[in-house]
Amino acid sequence: MFITGQLYRRQELHEKFGGQHQTGISTPAKQPFIFLFTSEDTFDKHKYEDGWTSDGTFSYSGQGRTGDMVFVAGNAAVRDHAANGKDLHLFENAGRGMVRYLGQMVSAGYQVISNRPDSHGNLRSVIQFHLVPLSATADQTPTEQDLRSLNEVPHDDFLDSRQDPETSCREAKALVRQRTLATKAVVLARANGNCEGCGNAAPFVALDGTPYLETHHVRRLTDGGPDDPRWVIALCPNCHQKAHKAIARDAFNDELMLRLMTVASTRMDLTISTRKRN
Ligand SMILES: [Zn+2]
Ligand SMILES: [Zn+2]
Repeated sequence: MFITGQLYRRQELHEKFGGQHQTGISTPAKQPFIFLFTSEDTFDKHKYEDGWTSDGTFSYSGQGRTGDMVFVAGNAAVRDHAANGKDLHLFENAGRGMVRYLGQMVSAGYQVISNRPDSHGNLRSVIQFHLVPLSATADQTPTEQDLRSLNEVPHDDFLDSRQDPETSCREAKALVRQRTLATKAVVLARANGNCEGCGNAAPFVALDGTPYLETHHVRRLTDGGPDDPRWVIALCPNCHQKAHKAIARDAFNDELMLRLMTVASTRMDLTISTRKRN
């Protein structure tokens, strides 16, 4: 919906979608996404340290000009974005009211860093989010190592995407990858070979011997990335195309969301208890 590298007038974004006009983290109430704005001059003004790291994650400072940063408002929204079914859209300040779209991100966790000066020069602790470009999580085929590490960590640990752990920036990418794969694994296990949209059996058996189904986010605009299985549904290719391309796709997605709410609460427990027993 936004084009990477393109300039947008920030004022117009808010007129169209809502959200706070001044803050770095802007949360339009009725949209399935959150705007993140970063700018170089905040570095001096509020001692924020935003930017790309050498391993391709974006370090993004939380909200709050004075005192310790805490997980309320925008900071909680970023931490819980997957659990709440919200996409993260990152823009950088380009001056004169313009912002440049850097792309869709997923939060891979955060670090709380102490003894950083606030805008009054007082020391406080800050929240630094590790954002990974969603494109880096797309179309991943699990490697042997992924499967091994997935087996080492109980799936339940991945199920609650609100438990975004405190993690170093180095671990962030691997963590996103693991959680992306885990989300998929959990959703497919829940579907048990049947499309959760139309109820039909998967149309064919895939090369790896499993029933072929695709995973679709009913609340976010984009598939892929780590997510809360409560918002991800397993669909046959037909239902999946319908959810994206049908003229009545909004109504169909609403229908899928309702179905997920009942299915996820009952069958998810089954999935977890089955996995625990194994
Ligand atoms: Zn279907
Ligand atoms: Zn989809």
